[in-house]
Amino acid sequence: MELTLVQPAARSFPARYTGRTVIALGAHPDDLELGIGGTLAALSRGGARVVMAICSVPADFEARLAEARAAATILGCELKVLMEDGCRRIEDLKAYQLVGLLDALVREFAPSALLTHGPGDFHRDHVAVYQAAVSTQRLLQFDFYSYLPTMTRPVPVPFQPRAYVDISHTIEAKMQAIAAHPSQFSARGITFELYRDIARLTGRMCGVQYAEGLDVNRLVFI
Ligand SMILES: [Zn+2]
Repeated sequence: MELTLVQPAARSFPARYTGRTVIALGAHPDDLELGIGGTLAALSRGGARVVMAICSVPADFEARLAEARAAATILGCELKVLMEDGCRRIEDLKAYQLVGLLDALVREFAPSALLTHGPGDFHRDHVAVYQAAVSTQRLLQFDFYSYLPTMTRPVPVPFQPRAYVDISHTIEAKMQAIAAHPSQFSARGITFELYRDIARLTGRMCGVQYAEGLDVNRLVFI
């Protein structure tokens, strides 16, 4: 028997942030599209201001920036690059400098929610961004979520969502936004259908066609 979501909560995840600002934080271009592209499109369509904040562009600055801009447009989001002075690596920064960068981001946008990498990611840059984001919680009482480990080529990494966002209506926007990064996929002969498979499997876990999973670090109910 198929699992179906017969009586969902009274308010959807996007409705929680209508008229609010949400920051989606990723270490590199394409991380956000892979991890939460469908969620970001749903938030934007639901009336949230969504800022896609990318910490660093490690190579091919102009080309990858153009790809990130195109993807953000597809998802209906704003784009902000934090290390905007050319190709940089997150490890170029000391931990306190990265926290300072994210503190400034949180102060500028005063988000109601922040979504970023999780502690179980296999990429050191991703974990560094997550750890710095943890520190920014002292500034504001925003909701704080983590998304699944993101990768160009699949490797086995454990991730157990504690929250599920229905992206059945935004899965195509997610896939188009990923396709907007040809330097990472088509130009290297790498397929990204894995991410449709993950969304389908995640959807099966919660009774919808496609879903993205989130870990919940902090939720503030009023
Ligand atoms: Zn990355």
